[in-house]
Amino acid sequence: MRPAPRAWVTGEVRAGYNEEVRALSPDDPPAFTALNADRESRVILTCDHAGRAVPRAWGDLGVAAAEFDRHIAWDIGAGDMTRHLARLFDAPAVLATYSRLFIDPNRPPGSEGSIVTTSDGTPVPGNVAVDEDERLLRARISFWPYHRAIERLIAKNEAQHGIVALVSVHSFTPRMRGFDRPWHVGVLWDGDDRIAGPLIAALGQDAGLVVGDNEPYTATSPAGYALEAYGLGPGRPHVMLEIRQDLIATDAGAAEWAGRLHRALGPILANPALYRLRRPLVRDGAPPLS
Ligand SMILES: [Zn+2]
Repeated sequence: MRPAPRAWVTGEVRAGYNEEVRALSPDDPPAFTALNADRESRVILTCDHAGRAVPRAWGDLGVAAAEFDRHIAWDIGAGDMTRHLARLFDAPAVLATYSRLFIDPNRPPGSEGSIVTTSDGTPVPGNVAVDEDERLLRARISFWPYHRAIERLIAKNEAQHGIVALVSVHSFTPRMRGFDRPWHVGVLWDGDDRIAGPLIAALGQDAGLVVGDNEPYTATSPAGYALEAYGLGPGRPHVMLEIRQDLIATDAGAAEWAGRLHRALGPILANPALYRLRRPLVRDGAPPLS
């Protein structure tokens, strides 16, 4: 394991200038990758958990290297599938670089789950003594640059074409807490099913697929940062996808699933009537809108 000289990083914060720059090494990667950023598109793809990097100054957070291959560090296959979807839709995509173990791009900074001290039974020692300065620093290194990139793409495309739709791509581990999850794909939504409803129906046409409606997670509590910030809050059409990781762990699998989702989502996203703001009328576990 690499050492984690976190103390000097925190010291830099207290010294207070250019701290996120000084906390990063020249070989630390940018916080996000933007694909097709110059494309004009009414669809924008995001992948919160595409990456598993940790800035060098934080070492490995005290977590064994093999754990970084697991779902606790990233969404296995989700980044590859997002790249294929970006190509198929010819749409912009923003992929986060840093691991959710550093700071989760899909949880508001400071909230529960933003910087976890344990994940699926694995302790994260480097996250135990994180003070407020370091929370802010991690957010400035990873969370905000990633989300600012998404916001810039939304603003640019909406200035040109009006309201855009957001597709948030995730993957889930096949087995959790002793339970084998039967779903191949999950469609997550809360209060606004303009994309989720027809997508669940379209995927359900394939009798061989087990399609989760707000499974294996529900988007109703909490919805996650991206869904709230870009979809539910402002009222943009949106959907969150969860694909089972064993299906997309290889590039061939990721390509196959991107093709399947492109076929199912394509006609839904091609409907011009989709692209208007709608405030969710029903929330907090109430019956879905039809
Ligand atoms: Zn995820």
